[in-house]
Amino acid sequence: IVSKLPSVGTTIFTKMSALAAEKGAINLSQGFPDFPPDARLLARASQALLTGNNQYSPMTGLPLLRDTVAGLIERHYDRKVSALDEITITSGASEAIFDAIAAIIHQGDEVILFDPAYDLYEPAVTLAGGVCKRVTLMAPDFRPDWHAFEKLLTDQTRLVLINTPHNPTGSCWTQQDLDCLWQAIESREIYVLSDEVYEFIYFGKSIVSVHKHAELAARSFVVSSFGKSFHLTGWKVGYVVAPPALTAELRKVHQFVTFCTATPLQQALAEHLRELPEESTALAAFYQRKRDVLRNALADSRFTLLPCEGTYFQLLDYSDISDLDDVAFCEWLIDEVGVAAIPISVFYQHPPENQRVIRLCFAKEESTLLDAAQRLSQL
Ligand code: PMP
Ligand code: GLN
Repeated sequence: IVSKLPSVGTTIFTKMSALAAEKGAINLSQGFPDFPPDARLLARASQALLTGNNQYSPMTGLPLLRDTVAGLIERHYDRKVSALDEITITSGASEAIFDAIAAIIHQGDEVILFDPAYDLYEPAVTLAGGVCKRVTLMAPDFRPDWHAFEKLLTDQTRLVLINTPHNPTGSCWTQQDLDCLWQAIESREIYVLSDEVYEFIYFGKSIVSVHKHAELAARSFVVSSFGKSFHLTGWKVGYVVAPPALTAELRKVHQFVTFCTATPLQQALAEHLRELPEESTALAAFYQRKRDVLRNALADSRFTLLPCEGTYFQLLDYSDISDLDDVAFCEWLIDEVGVAAIPISVFYQHPPENQRVIRLCFAKEESTLLDAAQRLSQL
């Protein structure tokens, strides 16, 4: 078979979680909580499964959930969107990202990414016949260089893929970044895919979102995930907000990729969000505490802690501990220390030389974080 993705292997998340399980290491690699979601939400899901609708939902998502999402966006971002033709419920943010790229990228179109970039972006672009160009972000603060960005723009540029709060670095963009992006693309026919799955996990004063930038929003797909916001990564329910013309194109793909997302899970999420509309706001404080537990426990270690402004990922620089590259260092950590982490070089096309940085997930019980930190502090 002639592979359409010859340079793609199995994702680092699958590899590292499998290694952690095999070797009995504490798994701070793949990003998922080790604590249960809200019991009331689980009860609603059970009820929806046992007594509710277990057949296809409308292709665009349950109306109740789309209405609830419209309310959430209005409350948080002061943006009014139409539940009818601007919101689509998808099987996770992953499906939304795939659908958006498949819907608008033509053969030979160029897509600008910011490296390190979440690993599903490039394969989706490649499968659609597009070509990725990259702005490289570097430790310790991973700030975008807008001059470098502008140099990549050509007549073929069709899409810019952005992600804030950012996985894997935990950095967040500023309002000025969004303004620079807008100024650079304003006069061209370029769209934006804004991956905002960690929208409620930010530790600054107020979240920077495309939802709050009216001009950019008029050109953008904004993608979110209930998996991150309600500790349910295995439910794979997400949504995408885009102006009607973009939504119409995205839905042409979505209807043939999955048609719809698990109906009882949509029902449970809609009811839960209606009952507890402010729940997602509490998420930042919840994760800030976990971040600080991990950071404090590692403060005297030989790792250098990089800034963490959002997401549930903390980066560690291990230059003072080892000369190994980050993939080898993560394998060594699992074997010798019993902690699984993610090397960040795998999210770059050209990893910066001598950048020795790994990612830890702190969406874990405090006891898990303290155990892991104790092991890491022995180095
Ligand atoms: N984008 C980013 C940056 C992510 O970290 C994730 C989570 N794995 C996704 C997209 C995919 O989200 P979902 O699990 O809802 O498909
Ligand atoms: N987004 C998660 C992470 O960054 C992993 C998702 C996955 O395994 N596909 O760790």
